[in-house]
Amino acid sequence: MNGTYCLKINCKKNSKIPIGRLGRIEFKKGWYLYIGSASGGIEARVLRHLRKRKKLFWHLDHLLAAEGTGVEKIYFIQSEKRLECFISKMVSLVLKPVKGFGSSDCRCRGHLYLFPEDHLARVEDLLINKHRFKSFSNRDFIQKMGKKGLEIKPGAHRDFLAGKGNNKIG
Ligand SMILES: [Zn+2]
Repeated sequence: MNGTYCLKINCKKNSKIPIGRLGRIEFKKGWYLYIGSASGGIEARVLRHLRKRKKLFWHLDHLLAAEGTGVEKIYFIQSEKRLECFISKMVSLVLKPVKGFGSSDCRCRGHLYLFPEDHLARVEDLLINKHRFKSFSNRDFIQKMGKKGLEIKPGAHRDFLAGKGNNKIG
């Protein structure tokens, strides 16, 4: 399955974490939002992000393998097109990116955003209401994946790709 996902990441303490070639980056205690996508095997990709032990490959691997960080919520959409940069641009209108994080292969300033808790409603409105992402808690995602899959129907965001609907953050 192809798709785009956003992860709400909890950083439990202020810390400096080495992120591959980006070097040591300062993370604040609080929430971060990461936007990514995968062509084929997106379920496996997200499950990989939820595992602590793994070979560190993406910037995100370094962050999530660090002590005191973890994914709390997953927003997920099945899509043929890669929507990560588009969604990232929308999110960048309200949140501040961590420069260069997750955006080595594109022109975005970053795909990881500092995510103040009081922006939760606004970001969820963008993802869930406007772009029809499904949201899962970490535990739900693992449970559903283990049973019968996510049951996400393709075309749930057809209107959006057809240019209908409002793509701006309200
Ligand atoms: Zn991008």
